[in-house]
Amino acid sequence: FFIALEGGDGAGKSTQAEALAEWIRAKGHEVVVTREPGATPVGKRLRSILLDVSSAGLSNRAEALLYAADRAEHVDSLVRPALERGAIVISDRYIDSSVAYQGAGRDLSPTEVARINRWATGGLVPNLTVLLDVSPETARERFTEAPDRLESEPPEFHGRVRSGFLTLAAADPSRYLVVDAGQEPEAVTTVVRHRLDQMLP
Ligand code: C5P
Repeated sequence: FFIALEGGDGAGKSTQAEALAEWIRAKGHEVVVTREPGATPVGKRLRSILLDVSSAGLSNRAEALLYAADRAEHVDSLVRPALERGAIVISDRYIDSSVAYQGAGRDLSPTEVARINRWATGGLVPNLTVLLDVSPETARERFTEAPDRLESEPPEFHGRVRSGFLTLAAADPSRYLVVDAGQEPEAVTTVVRHRLDQMLP
């Protein structure tokens, strides 16, 4: 069973990943919490290329392919093996981040970004994608470290990313749960738990 957490920077994805993992483990399942970009050794190197401010000016298509390369390595070496042994995998970001950031945000075709990522992942689709939706302004107030290359993009960029995620969610309500991530973290966890209770094996 594969859960993806999506949303802008500062939406609280990593906090929710840990809270949900603890709850699912208590039910007796093996849970693997992972993230993109950077969950594998090669992925860590790709992450540093992608996020370092010195990569300013990286071409949009090169950026999309590097995220897809990270994802291919992640799925092949970590996500699929975990799913095959019956673990529940929670990934902090997955394909929809690329459709929203490199598609809607960067102005590449969202359909083409989705297509290269379908190839990169061998068509692996989450059972549930949780969109933690929050305004870029609220999210920014939560930043604790210096912004990385993407976080340094202007508010318009983050507005397009947010709309990109909401468009994806509206197109596929059976796979998506949209949660208002401006709420307290505990309230967000409760909403997601409610949906998972009806779905988990
Ligand atoms: O979620 P995390 O902070 O680890 O993501 C790393 C950075 O990569 C973020 O700034 C995010 O905006 C960016 N990103 C992106 N495109 C993706 C995935 C993440 O621009 N497909």
